[in-house]
Formats: sequence, C-alpha cells, structure tokens
Amino acid sequence: MLVKYALKREVVIGERPIGVSVLGSTGSIGCSTLEVIRSNPELFQVTVLSANSNWELLLEQINEFKPRFAVLNDATAVKEILHSHTHSGTHVLEGEDALNDILFEDGSEITVIAIVGIAALRPLLAALKSKKRIALANKECVVAAGSLLKAAVEKYQGVIIPVDSEHSALFQVIQGESTADVSRLILTASGGPFYRTPVEKMATIQPAEAVKHPNWNMGAKISVDSATMVNKALELIEACRLFNLTEDRVDVLVHPQSIVHSLVAFNDGTQKAQLSVPSMTGPIAYALTYPHGRLPSAMAELNLAESGVLEFEALDNERFPAVQTARECLRASDGHCAVFNIANEVAVAAFLEGQLSFDRIVPFVRRAVSEFGDSFRVSSPESLDALWNETRERLFECSSF
Ligand code: NAD
Ligand code: MG
Repeated sequence: MLVKYALKREVVIGERPIGVSVLGSTGSIGCSTLEVIRSNPELFQVTVLSANSNWELLLEQINEFKPRFAVLNDATAVKEILHSHTHSGTHVLEGEDALNDILFEDGSEITVIAIVGIAALRPLLAALKSKKRIALANKECVVAAGSLLKAAVEKYQGVIIPVDSEHSALFQVIQGESTADVSRLILTASGGPFYRTPVEKMATIQPAEAVKHPNWNMGAKISVDSATMVNKALELIEACRLFNLTEDRVDVLVHPQSIVHSLVAFNDGTQKAQLSVPSMTGPIAYALTYPHGRLPSAMAELNLAESGVLEFEALDNERFPAVQTARECLRASDGHCAVFNIANEVAVAAFLEGQLSFDRIVPFVRRAVSEFGDSFRVSSPESLDALWNETRERLFECSSF
C-alpha cells in the first residue's frame, strides 16, 4: 500500500513556510495549487516552478511567486523567458535532467506532481529520491509504472498523498479507521459529457467538444479520458495500487453531480463518503497540509439544500468498456496495465491532433493491450519510452485502428 508511508513523516505548519516545488505549474492542477498557495502566503513558499513550453504563464508565475528555480522543457521557451524581465533571484533552466537535479537542492519539503502523463515519471522518481513528500495528482505513472514507484517508495521511505479527488476522498475517509475493517472502495464517476450521447454520434465528436467537462475544468488529456471513461479505468488501477486492494474490491458508481467524491464500505455494512463542491483546491490543500488538519476556506462550502438531487447508477460497461478492460489488465499483469496507459496516451494525443476519431480511442487501447500486454515488462523508465514509440508506430501502421 503506497499511502501507508504517509503516516510516517510530518510537516510542521506555522513555524516557517513549507517549501513547495510545483511540477507542471502552468496546467490546471498546477494553477489550482498556486491558488491555494496564493491564499496562504504565510504557510507556503514556492521553490520550483516547471512547465513544458508555456513560458508566458510561467513568467507571470515566476514574477508572482519568486521561486529559486524555474524549468522549461522547451529550449525556445527558455530563451523567450530569459529575454523577458524576470525575477532576478530565479534561475531559469532547460530540460528534464535540470529539473531532476535541482530537486536535490531547492530546499522544498513537498513536491506537487502536476505534470500530465508518463512524462512525469522521472521527475516523480527524482522527487522521491530527494526525500520530498509527494502530493500526487498524476495518475498515469501509478498505472504504467506501479512497480517502479513501489520500489522507489520502499527504497527512499517515500510519502505519497493522493490529490486525484476520488483518491483524496478515500484517503480522507479511511483516516482513523482500521484497514482490516474495509471491505470495498467505491469510486464515483460523473460519466463525462457523453454518457447519454447516442452511440452513432460518438464517431463525430470533435476535440473541442471532448475537452469540455460538465463539472470540472481540467487539462485536455484528462478531459478526453473522462469522456471515454478511461479516466475511471486509470483511477481503478490507481486505487488498487495506492490502497493495495485487488480489483474485485473496488467498484465504480456513476454519480453525475460530482458531489460525492468516493466512498469506503466497511465490513459492518457502513459506508462513509467525502462530499464537497467539485473543486481541486480542496484535495490539493489537504495533501499540502496533511497530517496537520485542514486549510480554512480551501474551497467553497457545499450547500446540499441548494445542490439538488444527487443521482447514482451502475456503470454501463457495454457502452463504456474501458473500466472492464482495466480490470482484465489488473488481473493479468503490470505490463498489461502499462500498455493500457501508454496506448491511451498515444490514442488521446492522436485524437487531439485530429488523427484518430473519438470512438476509436478505446478500441485502439484494447487492441494494444491484447497485442503487447503479454510480452511487455515494466523494467525501467526507458522500457516505457520504447513502448510509447512502438505503440505510436503501430497506430499509424495499422489502418484498422
Ligand atoms: P494540464 O494539461 O492542464 O497540465 C499539464 C502540466 O504538465 C502543464 O504545466 C504542462 O506544461 C506540463 N507538462 C506537459 N507535458 C510535459 C512534459 N513532457 N514535461 C514536463 N512538463 C510537462 O493537465 P492537468 O489537468 O493539470 O493534469 C495534470 C495531472 O493531474 C494529470 O496526470 C491528470 O490526470 C491529473 N489530474 C488532474 C485533475 C484536474 O482536475 N485537472 C484531477 C485529477 C488528476
Ligand atoms: Mg479523479
């Protein structure tokens, strides 16, 4: 169970600001993290900001939060930022290796992993090695590299606090409970924007429609994942890995209002849930301050009298087979889970580039799992890079995808 380590080390709030490195600071989770920090300047000090290429937003963030380091992947973006007027105390660096190195000297206690996709893996491993507490929003690394992550957590006695709202809910609900009393976890799923869209319309869904989620404002990739229900499939694997449970003990329940963020069922028949408005600042603040209690006003207060009827229904596995495929992957091997994740990253990128239709994403993932799953072994980050390249080539080779 990855999160058990969360109980071992503590951050003291109040004596001095907690150093926070925010990796993926220009994205949706990165910006929500900075919103929490902006509202609590006495509690937190940003030491690192990092982004892929959005130098304009990174520049604004540098000038506001004055971190020791800022890192961009893109060389041209680094030049742009160096030509602009930036906070002189910030070292602006280029590339993943630089990012991984400065995690050993930036002085932060917490690293927020808000980079999307398997691209977060090496920085996440570097953050664990440099003994940061991890506030983990990224789920792709847990799915594709669960065994590498587990080994790093054990080796460096790492601390991982989940930020994904469902896993944060589960983590909050099990506090003070005995894991022996837990019978099942129940992940809620909004169903995304197309849960009731007629099947024949799925082929013509455009990227601009798929990135609009009814309840959450998120990055493009996770929005598409929510629309295909692959997000819930990834979250099922994430939950099994974080809480050390087999897939038959994790259920998925469709709940379109996104107010109940997940539930834990106990063996006496009790179920406990965490409820709040759909806002990521709550789970982020909880991860930043754990185990020292909650940040006042981390998000707007829920008013159940005004939120209307809360609905729940079983997931339609026939229309949305991704969760079922994730269960098969979990039963098969780590390699199958890795292929599931990487094939999805490849397919979503192709969809967003206009090279694959929406209704082909999940069939492509399922086919990749059956073609590559049996033979693939997760041995290193490089093995996942090679799988990525092979899967992408396959997508373009095979017209039947
Ligand atoms: P996003 O696309 O809005 O932001 C991604 C961030 O990662 C950006 O700062 C981008 O510059 C950076 N990035 C992208 N590629 C990179 C690369 N190759 N190297 C370094 N940096 C790179 O994504 P998001 O919606 O904020 O999601 C981030 C992660 O959090 C995802 O794994 C997602 O599944 C997870 N998550 C997001 C939400 C949400 O509400 N957005 C909720 C739960 C979990
Ligand atoms: Mg989630």
